[in-house]
Order: sequence, then structure tokens, then C-alpha cells
Amino acid sequence: MEPLIQVRILAPEPVFQMPELPEVETIRRGLEPHLIGLTLQSLTVTDQKVLDLSARDGRLAGLEGQRIETVTRRGKYLVIALERHYLIIHLGMTGQLTLRDPRLPDAKSFERTVTGLEWCEQHAPDRHTHVHILLGDGRQLLFRDIRKFGRVYVLERVSNELLAFFETHHLGLEPFTPDYHLESFLAGFKNRTLRLKSLLLNQAFVAGVGNIYADEALFEAGLHPARKAPSLRRVEKERLFLAIQTVLERGIEFGGTSFRDFVNSEGEKGTNQEKLYVYGREGEPCLKCGTPIVKTVISQRGTHFCPSCQPRRR
Ligand SMILES: [Zn+2]
Repeated sequence: MEPLIQVRILAPEPVFQMPELPEVETIRRGLEPHLIGLTLQSLTVTDQKVLDLSARDGRLAGLEGQRIETVTRRGKYLVIALERHYLIIHLGMTGQLTLRDPRLPDAKSFERTVTGLEWCEQHAPDRHTHVHILLGDGRQLLFRDIRKFGRVYVLERVSNELLAFFETHHLGLEPFTPDYHLESFLAGFKNRTLRLKSLLLNQAFVAGVGNIYADEALFEAGLHPARKAPSLRRVEKERLFLAIQTVLERGIEFGGTSFRDFVNSEGEKGTNQEKLYVYGREGEPCLKCGTPIVKTVISQRGTHFCPSCQPRRR
């Protein structure tokens, strides 16, 4: 009998960095003043793959003629409320949502970034632009997504529909809302045995945190990313609770984290890259103590930390 050979294949580190809460919030703030009150004139979809089932079979066209009332966000989901429907967009790994004014010049080409993504101030629809929305004032809202992990959803705007949607998508505590308080945060630790990095990436724990802000929050709280959730003392949980809001707030303040790939809805790059303490800084000195930042892999995700500021055990 042949021996069983176990081969463990590690997924390669994704080249693209997914937009997280601060990036989506920056896009939301950029879009909101432009979109509210406008009519959604028409919608053109060139690739059905980015449409969730709820948005297929012409259901997206049902939004035509409706006025945009609010532009909100939950976790990494952008929610555009129309008169009778919600248009929900998740940017996935490489999604861009930009406004285009056809009277203004488009960029001649995209700039290639270190992470493989492309950006420009304003672009004409191209083969990666899968949803074109014509607005009442002649401008366009374009959804461009090279890798097509982004998704567009349509929901009827009836009571509890939105709540049910986010329950289905397992979204946990929403930072910056009254629901995000210490007691609910501590309750989230119950029955969770994951390593801290994995816990933070779990959207059912706190919504909107991804790879960048998970690393930054653990550095801010002085916690080793490989520690298991049950090993935390209460005071450490309290530090983490505050750290998450601190790093997300910083991210929003600086317009999202820019790897030359994230652009807000007006085509401007975020500037948070210089404000990161550990993410993407492997081998560079810790900004607090000078120890070189270490990069390791936890749950198949590249994880950055300072071995001095974030010891395995205090
Ligand atoms: Zn340090």
C-alpha cells in the first residue's frame, strides 16, 4: 500500500490589496455629495459576472428612473438607497468606483502600480468597466474591476431587507456606531478560538477590517498576531477594542491606504501609505523601537508585526 503523502499548498500572497473600511468610507464620502438627489437614468452592464443573482435578469434595469436618496456604508459594502431599491456594491479585490464627467478629459492611460493595479484621475469605459451608470446630470458612475471579485446587488427597499442582507453576509460589529461598544466587543470573543490575525479578518467579529488594518490594529494594541483569542486578558482586549477604531479613524483621515492602487471616487489617490506602522514595512525599522519589522504568514495571509512591541507573551 502506498503511503499517504500530504502536500500542503499555500495560496500565494494575493498581489492585490482589497479596499477596507477606510477606503470604502473615503469613496462613500467622495460620492455622497455628488449623487444625492440625482436620478439614475440608465444602466449598462457589459459583464454579468460582477452581478449577484439579485441583480441579474434585468433587475438592475428596474432601478432606472429612480432618485438617489442616500449613500451609506456597512463594513466594506457601499449602499446606494434609491426610491424603491438598494443598490449595494462590494469592491472585492480590485474594484474601482469612479465618477466620470464626459465634458472633462479622460486620462490617456492607466498608471501601472507596484501591486499590479491601475489608476487614473478619470477614465473612459474600457474592457474592465463592467457597469456604466448614467446619472441625471450627464455624469457617469463607472464600476471597473479587473479581477471581477467585486459584486453588485439589488434589494427591494422594504423593511428589514437590508438587515437580513447583512445578516446573510455575516457582518459583525460596525465601528463608529453605537453598536460598537466594549461590552459587545468582549462578547464577540465568546467561543472564538482563532489567532488574533484571523479573528480580525473575520467580518462576523468586526466588519470592515482587512489585512492592512488588522496588522495595524494589532501593532497599535501591542499584541502578537499569532496569539489565540482566548489567551487575551481583559486589559488586552480593551486595548484591541480601542486600537481598531484608532487605526480605522487614521485610515479615513488620510483618505484610505494608498498602494498606488486605491483611488477614491474622484480619482484621487489615498495618502495613508506613509501613516502605516507595520503593513508593507518588512525589514524596515519599527517606528516606535527601531526593531526590524517581521513578515510572516498567518492563515495564508501576509502578516507584519514588530517582535519587540508585539511579543508573543508579555
Ligand atoms: Zn517596535
